[in-house]
Amino acid sequence: MGLLQGAFFCAWGATGWGVRGSKWSMDISDWIENISNELVPWVYPALCDLCGAPGPCGLHVLQACPEPRCVRCASLLPEGVAAGSSCADCVVRSPGLTSVLVLGSYGEGAPLKPWVMALKHGGRPDLAQPLGACLGERLLEFGTPSADTLLVPVPLHFWRRMQRGYDQAALLARAVSRRADLPWGSVLYRRRATWAQGSLLSQGRASNVQDAFELHPDRGTLVRGREVYLVDDVYTSGATLWACAKVLRRAGVRRVGALVVARAERFA
Ligand SMILES: [Zn+2]
Ligand SMILES: [Zn+2]
Repeated sequence: MGLLQGAFFCAWGATGWGVRGSKWSMDISDWIENISNELVPWVYPALCDLCGAPGPCGLHVLQACPEPRCVRCASLLPEGVAAGSSCADCVVRSPGLTSVLVLGSYGEGAPLKPWVMALKHGGRPDLAQPLGACLGERLLEFGTPSADTLLVPVPLHFWRRMQRGYDQAALLARAVSRRADLPWGSVLYRRRATWAQGSLLSQGRASNVQDAFELHPDRGTLVRGREVYLVDDVYTSGATLWACAKVLRRAGVRRVGALVVARAERFA
């Protein structure tokens, strides 16, 4: 609500005082809240979560206009193809995910790249919060979460978790969960360490993650019959997500989608 509308709301509240009795106090507190929401950014401008510069930067630009991407693998659609379509590849193959939502590109020079690099390799676990909140918003706007939707982070191997000191996919899942008001749970684990997907050629990626994931024995019943959204930081070839989806479907998950911060472009 804008400042003008806030003022209008106050005037309306004031004239309604005699008639509506106790509503008056609610209207005035609404008005004070509106006024302070308007003033706070003037007095204390929001700082960029990544670089600390005042004012919106990077991430906020992306939130404004999502590019048209394939609903099933999030690859960029050729010009002229309507938003909400599948790409030519997904029409013929069955990638194992019902939908993939991403915030943007992981290509060279893409505005998201420094955010994801800092989260993954720069010791900035705090960035999971704004990125996850954006993903949550994207899910509410373009996804179809239902009453039984569960968010499941793509698991990190124990050793890599130790090395990094935090699990960025789990932090993202928690942030999405807060924003979209959905439960999350680490129901998968990595049986063995795999090479970083980015360092392999595409043929190597599928075999690299084949059978690398397993369902926690005591949490299997949590997912049966539910809808699951896998949460991860980067979509490289899709092989990791597909391997996770396979395990989940075997455990009786009704529908598997994915929420990923950034996607490596196919021909980049
Ligand atoms: Zn910035
Ligand atoms: Zn596709």
